[in-house]
Amino acid sequence: MNCGICKYYYREKMKCPGCRGEDENKSKSVRDCIIINCDEIKNNNSEFCFECSNIPCKRLKNLDKRYRTKYHMSMLENLDFIKENGIEPFLEKEKQKWKCPKCDGIVTCHGGKCLNCGFEKYKN
Ligand SMILES: [Zn+2]
Repeated sequence: MNCGICKYYYREKMKCPGCRGEDENKSKSVRDCIIINCDEIKNNNSEFCFECSNIPCKRLKNLDKRYRTKYHMSMLENLDFIKENGIEPFLEKEKQKWKCPKCDGIVTCHGGKCLNCGFEKYKN
């Protein structure tokens, strides 16, 4: 998950520090996230799920399905891309995908709208 396209990362009240941020600043649902709290990740000091022998596990598949259906992105595709190309090319690709065509602002996956001008790039 690229937190740079998440609306909770940009909101003013209860601004999320990002999935990998400090727990105390996260909302309960993020704190309790089963992916962040995955024992495999913690025990192996993994950075990405593709380092896990269980990929794709059931919880990752469920999350991926939810995001593909509702939020115009795939966690599994992102993981594949990062594994093949590295994190920098991924972020570059993301920047293009989520850029507002009208004002170059940031479009978030939750809602599919530009944070700056409100242009609807992805319809839900
Ligand atoms: Zn815009």
